[in-house]
Amino acid sequence: MSDNGHGGTLGGRVALVTGAGSGIGRACARALAADGAEVHVVDLDGAAAERVAAEVGGRAHVVDLADPGAVGALPAQVDVLVNNAGFQHVAPLPEFPLDTFTRMQQVMVTAPFQLVRNALPHMYRRGWGRIVHVSSVHGLRASPFKAGYVTAKHALEGLSKVVALEGAARGVTSNCVNPGYVDTPLVRAQIADQAAAHGIEESEVVADVLLRRAALKELIAPERVAELVRWLCGDHAAHVTGVSLPMDGGWTAA
Ligand code: NAD
Repeated sequence: MSDNGHGGTLGGRVALVTGAGSGIGRACARALAADGAEVHVVDLDGAAAERVAAEVGGRAHVVDLADPGAVGALPAQVDVLVNNAGFQHVAPLPEFPLDTFTRMQQVMVTAPFQLVRNALPHMYRRGWGRIVHVSSVHGLRASPFKAGYVTAKHALEGLSKVVALEGAARGVTSNCVNPGYVDTPLVRAQIADQAAAHGIEESEVVADVLLRRAALKELIAPERVAELVRWLCGDHAAHVTGVSLPMDGGWTAA
């Protein structure tokens, strides 16, 4: 394995990143590949997955993570697993569609569980593994109208801690990263919806609605989240396990 000078060498390691066709997942695929990992790029959007896989020299897998059969067929020989894929739906509880709620749990909780279960035997055999879950401040705090998302992210936090406890003696770490609002298509869609709903400028939505609870009134670049994910995957982070690391501009400090 080559040393890249900042302790984050991933040469010889195989990574699998879900939702790697866009936003934070794509940034993670790029960061892990830059550190030498071979990357499995998993996404529902086939064209996006192919593009990112070609860019990072990895392999694309076009999969709907709500389909347990398709998830079960993904590669299990992975050393680094980044459970990133997710989506948002905003609605008051009495109107929150049951099928959307269920799909959110499938994509953001059940698929991560399945992928962890698939990968652990290989990680245990090698005595080394890194599992990172892209949670959210909404894994630690609630907001109204986001029942499906907040429920799923809180569940992911629980899963991560159990993996940390079971994996510790086998060289496997499991952690969550908890971003505030990141500048990705997922958030851009929310900004446009809110601006239309309230009849205000998109800049006002960012400052007064989305970042109301953050001390730092800026959207986060996806590359910054990916940098934290990459850091957690280094050998230096062997003792960092079972934690949740907010990158939220001070939101959870208040
Ligand atoms: P994004 O919409 O840019 O990317 C999400 C990717 O996941 C897309 O490429 C999409 O095709 C894929 N995906 C969605 N459903 C899928 C499914 N069923 N099967 C396979 N792939 C699927 O979003 P993003 O902002 O990069 O979000 C990535 C993760 O980060 C999500 O889990 C999200 O909850 C979390 N997050 C985002 C923010 C933010 O502000 N953007 C903040 C905190 C946490």
